[in-house]
Amino acid sequence: MEYGNILEKAKSRKKQIKQLLAKLNKLPVKQVDSYFHEEHDKVFEQIDCLKCANCCKTTGPLFTQKDIERIAHHLNQKPGAFIEQYLRLDEDNDYILKSTPCIFLDKSNYCSIYDIKPKACGEYPHTNRRNMNEISTLTFNNAMVCPAVSKILENIEKKLP
Ligand code: SF4
Ligand code: SF4
Repeated sequence: MEYGNILEKAKSRKKQIKQLLAKLNKLPVKQVDSYFHEEHDKVFEQIDCLKCANCCKTTGPLFTQKDIERIAHHLNQKPGAFIEQYLRLDEDNDYILKSTPCIFLDKSNYCSIYDIKPKACGEYPHTNRRNMNEISTLTFNNAMVCPAVSKILENIEKKLP
């Protein structure tokens, strides 16, 4: 299935996805983590992020102070100038991109600062972290952006009694 179709399907199943996440929230933390981690590994064996890049095209990460310093240094810029040029504060007072697609995404869907990318980019889509139940809202939102998350949830849904 095309990645776009996977996302379309997830968008048409918002209610069921919310119900699934609510159901998972009632299960033991370790059991839920193992569902996610197992499917994360399986799904990322099949999905090629270079053919997708939807996260970099449509959302972009939070930039920590360390991220800003590291990337600004790489660009021979002062952190303040980097912020001024590319970032803005969101409603939670976190630095995010002024606009998307991410300025560091190249035409072949490669990240031009891959080795020094923001920490959040390395952790996205957060489906292999511990305590998955703590980030249900984020997982729901990511399922609308990331076909891998949509697929992981679809596979978990099939496993549940
Ligand atoms: S949206 Fe998900 S599948 Fe697509 S590039 Fe990002 S992490 Fe990979
Ligand atoms: S910094 Fe790189 S990995 Fe992160 S959103 Fe931009 S292009 Fe994608």
